[in-house]
Amino acid sequence: MTAYEAVKVRLDPTPRQERMLASHAGAARFAYNLMLSHVRRQLSLGERPDWTMYAMRRWWNEWKDGIAPWWRQNSKEAYNSAFEWLSQALKNWSDSRKGRRRGRRVGWPRYKSKRTSVPRFAYTTGSFGLVDGDPKALRLPRIGRVHCMENAARLVRGRRIVRMTVSRRAGAWHAALTVERQPGTHPTAKARRRDYPVGVDLGVKTLATLSDGTVFPNPHAYARSQRKLRRAQQTLSRRDRDANHGRGSNRRRKALDRVRRIHARIAAQRADRVGKLTAWLAATYPSISIEDLNVQGMTHNHRLAKHVLDAGFAEFRRQLEYKTARTGARLHVIDRWHPSSKTCHRCGTVKAKLPLSERVYHCDKCGLTMDRDLNAAINIMVAGSAPETLNARGGDARRPGSSEATQTPVKREPSGRANAVRLGAVPGNRGM
Ligand SMILES: [Zn+2]
Repeated sequence: MTAYEAVKVRLDPTPRQERMLASHAGAARFAYNLMLSHVRRQLSLGERPDWTMYAMRRWWNEWKDGIAPWWRQNSKEAYNSAFEWLSQALKNWSDSRKGRRRGRRVGWPRYKSKRTSVPRFAYTTGSFGLVDGDPKALRLPRIGRVHCMENAARLVRGRRIVRMTVSRRAGAWHAALTVERQPGTHPTAKARRRDYPVGVDLGVKTLATLSDGTVFPNPHAYARSQRKLRRAQQTLSRRDRDANHGRGSNRRRKALDRVRRIHARIAAQRADRVGKLTAWLAATYPSISIEDLNVQGMTHNHRLAKHVLDAGFAEFRRQLEYKTARTGARLHVIDRWHPSSKTCHRCGTVKAKLPLSERVYHCDKCGLTMDRDLNAAINIMVAGSAPETLNARGGDARRPGSSEATQTPVKREPSGRANAVRLGAVPGNRGM
């Protein structure tokens, strides 16, 4: 089973390389839009277009000299990546329409606009990747050796690179390298430090509270960025949206750039703390229980939704899944109807209501007084490591499945990369 991981590197291109990167991304956008209009025309003529990537490539190779005589300026990979993305987008649309795809309805692919779409292209074949003897560089076919802000070789750690996606976000070019993961070879696999199970409560006031009392506070830098973001958004809302024939004033565009930059910084901060926390958890505990927070269901409650999304739960779970698979720790994902914050961990009494503002859990029955998040973390640990214990204590046992620790389900991705996510709780994977 091959599994993959992404390694992200910020590029530091010369002005000439930057123009070439933009040209490649523009070529991908051109090819995407051209092919989309071609498929559309075929459909409107009552034909049944073949929208596999291979069919698109064939059509392009037949017509490119006439339609885009400049195509040689860019690597053929730029065009191919556009066809791969469009082919996937059309498949998603078609599957969604026929009810073969779960989740939100997927609409007809939209044309990529020069102003609003993220400039992007990818390499999947050819001699792209690391440069021998130059760890802070990447080789991009047709563009050359591009200097990086980070040590790319160290991040890749000798793993095979199968794909390189280049994109521009918040004004900077990045390369995302898809590398093959080598399970069990992670350096943290041998250094497990604690021998008891743990429950993790992802929090509002704190990033995470563990059942053994360990608390991960939110970094101050994060709160500062949040304040900056709020101010930048206020400025943006004051700027003229209708100037320049609906394109917005120049001052508005500047304010928008600033909001985007702060968003990018917050995302980076979030990625950093989620990455560190999950790595530490997977390396420290033999068994980890978390709650399955259904973010979509929670978006009805705006206040809570903001916090849950802030904590980056989906990313937290995804990283914990593959990191526990590496270190051999077991991961239990608790049913999301399990009332972890409302249940007293000592006597099992369930409160009918517990507003988010109440930071301390106080049990009217047994008198327990405890930090709300810690009480929740203990309940999560108990539910994950010994489901029957909770029932015996009278935790809400009548609702079917309410206290069961469910193992993480296999995530099947529609793209066919079914093996991209490994289970954290695979039996026989406990390299303790
Ligand atoms: Zn109690």
